[in-house]
Parts: sequence; structure tokens; C-alpha cells
Amino acid sequence: MHTVKERAYAKVNLYLDVGAPRSDGFHSVVSVMHMTGLYDEISVTLDRASHGITLYSEGGFSVPTDRRNLVYRAAELILKRLSLDIGVKITLKKNIPVSAGLAGGSSDAAATLRAMNRLLKRPLSRAALAELAAELGSDVVFCLYSGTALCTGRGEIISPLSHPELIFVIAKTRECVSTKEAYSLLDEYYGDFKSGTAEDAEDCLRELLGFIDGKCPPQRLYNAFEAPMLKTLPDTEALHKKITAHGARYTLMSGSGPSVFGIFDTEKNASECVRALVSEGIFAILTRSAGCGFDI
Ligand code: ATP
Repeated sequence: MHTVKERAYAKVNLYLDVGAPRSDGFHSVVSVMHMTGLYDEISVTLDRASHGITLYSEGGFSVPTDRRNLVYRAAELILKRLSLDIGVKITLKKNIPVSAGLAGGSSDAAATLRAMNRLLKRPLSRAALAELAAELGSDVVFCLYSGTALCTGRGEIISPLSHPELIFVIAKTRECVSTKEAYSLLDEYYGDFKSGTAEDAEDCLRELLGFIDGKCPPQRLYNAFEAPMLKTLPDTEALHKKITAHGARYTLMSGSGPSVFGIFDTEKNASECVRALVSEGIFAILTRSAGCGFDI
């Protein structure tokens, strides 16, 4: 039996705009996703002498270990796609907060696809893996690759961008809102969406490139969820202000929240911010942009 270990990195959205719901019920999005160095660890073992998927969960955050877990569903999908009836044993160590807007579940699913394809000696091409990823969820496709990308459609159409090296503080209060609730808050807050997307992909790309050059004004990093969510989550609104007060150059909510990240100029300021937040009982970590390049 052979085991493969894989890291599943958390993403933040450097930009996220949401358009009207489409005929399939998904909202269209324009997003710049960026992989950070916070990661879950996945270890996959195949056993051709047995059957079925067994998932164990460990680490700081608890998740279901049955079909409700995206890791389980990713493993199941690969087995089905390849018509395999073998045993799969997976251990998932959760370091990424759950339901936080950091795509932890999506990244775990993508890591499972990569790990199983490697263990099976790569029967599936990158394109075939991306198809399976899109079936599992919109964010899973970005998480299959690495780095920074412009994500459009329902989030599954990926165009790689250059990958800035950033210093982050990622923090989260105990407040929680499901992605579904976050979208209804968004609908309430903005009323009718004018078009498919409020900003087009070109604007988004320009904003990010301006940001990399250090020319991007803070308000150009944008998340459509931020205003409606901060209005309903007072602790998260306070956290946002605290991170800014600790010297973050930019502070923004990630995804549908409630995680908030700050981008810092120095590791010293970032670590002081983390120390202060942790002393108040808030989950906070210092991390950097993840390195690029998965072995797919
Ligand atoms: P996104 O940013 O893509 O919206 P998120 O960070 O907000 O994702 P997740 O942590 O992926 O949210 O979890 C969302 C839901 O998915 C939770 O209800 C959780 O129970 C479920 N889930 C399924 N599999 C996983 C997993 N491997 N890790 C975390 N959550 C999972």
C-alpha cells in the first residue's frame, strides 16, 4: 500500500463581485482568488484488497467524515469516473476554519483529486480533473491549481494571473453565516442586480495589476459581501477595524465571510496584530502567499 500526502491551501479573494443569479440558480462572479500558506493536510492510501472510503478527521476544526464531506465526495467521484472498486483510506487534518470564506472544503476536495490521481499513476488529464472539480463545487477548480487567478462564470472559469508575494493576517470571530444566508443578505442589500456582473473581468484584472505594482488604492480591493455582512456581524466589523488599526495596508473580508484578512508591509506588524487578536480569544494567524505549482 502506498500513501500520498497533499496540502490543501486556503484562498482569500483579493477581489469579489457578484452578478445576478443565472438561469441555473448560480450567481455569476468576478473574483481574484489568491492562495495563502494556511493549509489542511490530507493523507490518502489506496488498498486494492478492500472496498469503500474511510475518512478520519483530526486537527483544530471538526467536520463530518461521511458523504457530507467534500473529501469523501471527491474520492467517490474519482472511483466512479474510473470504474474502480477499491479501498481508500483518507486522513484529513483541519487547520483551516470551517465555513469561513476560505474555501477549506473546496481545497480539501481538490487535494483529494490530486492525491488520488497521483496514486493511480495519473489516469486523468488536468482537463479531466478540472471537470470533476467543477462537479464538486465552483471554487474547487481554482483550488486544483495554485497561485492567483481571475475566476469568472460561477467561479469555475480560471485565468492564471501573476502571483504577488504578500504577508497576511487571517482572522475570524465566532460569528457565522452560511454561504446560502450570505447570498440572501447580498440580494436584500443590493436589490436588483443590473447585469450579469457589476464589474467586468478587464476592470478586475487592471485592479489587481495596479495592486501588484503598489499603485492600487485600498478601496479597489473589493468584496461585494463585505458591506452587507459587516452590517449584520458586529464582532466581525470590530475585527475589521482592529486589523486596520494594527497597520494593515488593506483589510478585506474573504469570500462570503466571516473571515477577514489584512495585508501587512512587515511581518513584525502582522505578528503584533496576531498576538493582540489571539489574546482576545479571536482565531488569528500570520501567513504568506503560498508558493506556486502543484504536482498534478
Ligand atoms: P467557500 O469559501 O468555498 O464558500 P467556506 O470556507 O466558506 O467555503 P468550508 O469550510 O468549505 O466553507 O465549509 C462549508 C460547508 O462545507 C460546511 O458546512 C462544512 O460542514 C462542509 N464541508 C464539507 N467538507 C468539508 C471539508 N473537508 N472541510 C470543511 N468543511 C467541509
